Amino acid sequence: MDSQPSLESRIKKLGLSCGFDLVGITSADPFERDERAAVERVRSGLMDGLPWYTEDRVRKANRPRELLEGAQSVVSLAVSYNARDGSNNGGITGKVARYAWGTDYHRVIKRRLRSFVDGLPAIVGREVRTRVFVDDGPMNDRAAAERAGVGWFGKNTNVLTSTHGSWVFLSQVITDIPLRPDAPLRKTCGACTSCIADCPTGAIVAPYVVDNRRCISYLTIEHRGGIPADKRPWIGSWVFGCDICQDVCPVNRKAVATLDPEFSPGRDVAAPDLLALLELTDEEFAERFRYSPIKRAKRIGLQRNAVVALGNIGDPAAVPALERVLLGAAEPMLRGHAAWALGRIGGRAAQEALSGALGAGDDTQVEDEVRAALAEAAGSPVAG
Ligand code: SF4
Ligand code: SF4
Repeated sequence: MDSQPSLESRIKKLGLSCGFDLVGITSADPFERDERAAVERVRSGLMDGLPWYTEDRVRKANRPRELLEGAQSVVSLAVSYNARDGSNNGGITGKVARYAWGTDYHRVIKRRLRSFVDGLPAIVGREVRTRVFVDDGPMNDRAAAERAGVGWFGKNTNVLTSTHGSWVFLSQVITDIPLRPDAPLRKTCGACTSCIADCPTGAIVAPYVVDNRRCISYLTIEHRGGIPADKRPWIGSWVFGCDICQDVCPVNRKAVATLDPEFSPGRDVAAPDLLALLELTDEEFAERFRYSPIKRAKRIGLQRNAVVALGNIGDPAAVPALERVLLGAAEPMLRGHAAWALGRIGGRAAQEALSGALGAGDDTQVEDEVRAALAEAAGSPVAG
């Protein structure tokens, strides 16, 4: 007898044919447990610095029926960005989180979601109502993915999938199609605590809880203005995001690599030349990162991060470029960070650059940074 594949399996097949690696289904019921946990995080200040992340938004994000009238189901789709970087740029390079190596995922995934949604009426046999989300609106992507059996919650707050680890972009389609939900996976991190132990800033303050204010990812991408001096050493050579708590995860070591050209690193993206980043004008930044998630940091944020990374790397070859920033950048914040970086690098050339900037009648904050940097440089082992 000819047995028709189920509606659910035809919808999943459609998702895979549109370029997604994993597809799961859950109901449009509220994510009550997740809403309670997220409200708690907002109230305890762990989301400070993200003004849009309010209790109101949290409530909406966990109630799919408030996001689409007549919502019945949520289709949860994941696509891997686990590309390999074979580039060897030479020079003094920084690090960029893997999710930002390719084309801006919002663009790529939106395009794939459109094909997916366009294919639904032919499968269901009627017009369908949908609303799509890809990290761009009030929708709790992780809660939906977890309940749809796409993955489980890792203690580093990422969703871990069995096949692709946590190197996945999550997106959701809320729909008025009644579908049989998948069961959540029966997996957990078990006794592992690698991500908590290896986070360099102690940002994973408890399993499943990240304190944004300590997280390098937040500091290098979302945080506007200067990075407090005591936090700058945490940044290491990251200039956009941080992958440490994913790199150390044993589940990720077995993750399948992707060959998706959209997420493969473009030239000089995964490990950018830091000195070249310092030279970018607004126009050059806009042109170079037009299709990249990196544009979110803005030119000034990326240059701030590059300056901090150069201070942490400590290579004296960066002194002339940092001196140009110290003396010539339009933004006092950048000039102050350049002073700090020169102080960290130390040595005669850095000290001369700092001394040359003293008494130039600069912004008081910059002057303070220069004085502190001179004191640091004087105490450095290569001073003299
Ligand atoms: Fe820690 Fe980096 Fe993970 Fe943030 S992204 S929690 S700083 S390891
Ligand atoms: Fe879970 Fe260990 Fe991975 Fe952290 S490193 S997310 S504890 S499996």
